[in-house]
Amino acid sequence: MRHVCRDLLPLSAIEHLVYCERQWGLIHLEGVWTENRLTAEGRRMHERAHDPQTEVRGDVRTARGLRIRSLRLGLVGKADVVEFHRTSDRGHEPSPHSGRLRVPGSPESLGVELPGVAGLWLPFPVEYKRGRRRHEEAYKVQLCAQAICLEEMLGAAIPRGALFYGKSKRHMEIEFDDTLRVKTEQAAVRLHRLTTEGKTPPAVFSKKCERCSLLDHCMPRATGSAQSVRAYLAQAIKDSGRGIP
Ligand code: SF4
Repeated sequence: MRHVCRDLLPLSAIEHLVYCERQWGLIHLEGVWTENRLTAEGRRMHERAHDPQTEVRGDVRTARGLRIRSLRLGLVGKADVVEFHRTSDRGHEPSPHSGRLRVPGSPESLGVELPGVAGLWLPFPVEYKRGRRRHEEAYKVQLCAQAICLEEMLGAAIPRGALFYGKSKRHMEIEFDDTLRVKTEQAAVRLHRLTTEGKTPPAVFSKKCERCSLLDHCMPRATGSAQSVRAYLAQAIKDSGRGIP
């Protein structure tokens, strides 16, 4: 995708969209949000991750709550955590520029210069998630979108990042390969198209509905296709005949 988007949409919307287009529509078009125990824990983790501060530990500098955007994807948001890993400490004097990151050489370079710090530093985005370690496609796409934002802003190639799962306290490293990048760009295009159309997509009932915080608002069995509505009604009539509420 080579065009530049004029409208910037929230980066977090891409995760909802990839998880379920109806969930995205309910949250971002209709303003529905239900907080349950799981989403409350997730929100608290994000608040902690967004505490504005920079930590320095050896060859890793950690920035929290960085504002990021991509004009190419048309997305804007915050990165929970961006680690900068030192890849070289020679050949580069500390930059006198404050608040501005400068890229030494080509996009294939080993990192970026940080203001006032010697060496080259490779950005490594980390997204915090509640729960156990799982391979969630939507999380990977969201993280990859963050990486594309950072690449565009810093002019650096970012080959990988990580998902951090609160429950297990484990990092899952994610490689931003071509397949994931294409999926992320397609999701951004879809996000803009559906936003322009402004219509919440219909429900498609699946296993993931059981874990969805919007299940009660969405009523996927009752609001999905005519076939699933018929099945839902038939089951409801059967259950009421057996005295099941
Ligand atoms: S209940 Fe299912 S169809 Fe409805 S928003 Fe959630 S995941 Fe999507």
